[in-house]
Amino acid sequence: PLETTAHIWHNGKLIRWEDAQIHVMSHVIHYGSSVFEGIRCYQQPGGAGVFRLQEHMARLVDSAKIYRMPLPYTAEQLSDAVVDVIEANGVAPCYIRPIAFRGYGEIGVNPLKSPVEVYIANFPWGKYVPGDAGADVCVSSWSRLAPNTMPSLAKAGANYMNSQLIRMEAEINGYSEGIALDVNGYLSEGSGENLFLVRGGVLYTTPLANSVLNGITRSSVLTIAKELGITVVEQAMPREMLYICDEAFFTGTAAEVTHLRSVDRITIGDGKMGPITRSIHDEFFALVNGTKTDRFNWLTPVNVR
Ligand code: PMP
Repeated sequence: PLETTAHIWHNGKLIRWEDAQIHVMSHVIHYGSSVFEGIRCYQQPGGAGVFRLQEHMARLVDSAKIYRMPLPYTAEQLSDAVVDVIEANGVAPCYIRPIAFRGYGEIGVNPLKSPVEVYIANFPWGKYVPGDAGADVCVSSWSRLAPNTMPSLAKAGANYMNSQLIRMEAEINGYSEGIALDVNGYLSEGSGENLFLVRGGVLYTTPLANSVLNGITRSSVLTIAKELGITVVEQAMPREMLYICDEAFFTGTAAEVTHLRSVDRITIGDGKMGPITRSIHDEFFALVNGTKTDRFNWLTPVNVR
């Protein structure tokens, strides 16, 4: 069950968790008309900090723009609101869920006459213990969103019906996650993670054109890898690259940097976390856990005690 907090931010005000309710006839319930974010606030030795808050809020603004959803707040105002709600609730480390949606108004498909509601919740999410065992995943029988059906660059609630199909199928068949191909059969992403592969010392990830979300962790890993002097290539890749690569890992706010042990029961490398994944993984955690200084300015401090 979800651990609750005292307050949720709604349209500029803090309300009680219990009072953050909507009517069943709200547009979003029927047609999935929401855009949202998932953000982590990490604990560091000197306090707590939200990871890449401005980038997440800029993506929320982008998602809303794609869906012609006027947000009455700027990315800066929403970033301030995140700090306010975390400090009001006094909970860190935590997960933060900002969401904007079409509320109670019209029930026709066209959302433009229904009001836009913005909420920001946060709730405790303890430190992730990196499972060094690695994940056993499969290639999904479901494809990722085709580019001319649903925009992958929008982090929209409705996209997660596709994610749910991928994830349910994977878990029912005994895997922890599924990797979807795009409609042309090229590698895309997991139900909630971007995908990276290593072969011959080169780091590969799928480009944004292959129906992936523009992951904030993905972009952080690209920055870290370049700084570590690793050659990075963003290119379309066939499914079999998964079977013949030396290393593979997922990135995401929830997954952080999680190495893949096998795909379709074919072991990747020797199944253990490989050296390039290890170097990126360790650098990522050093930055978010504050054992290295925040040289990229990725953390927004919050005052929680
Ligand atoms: N792809 C999908 C479909 C996702 O839901 C997520 C999680 N937001 C990601 C990739 C990773 O994105 P991020 O690193 O910004 O969490």
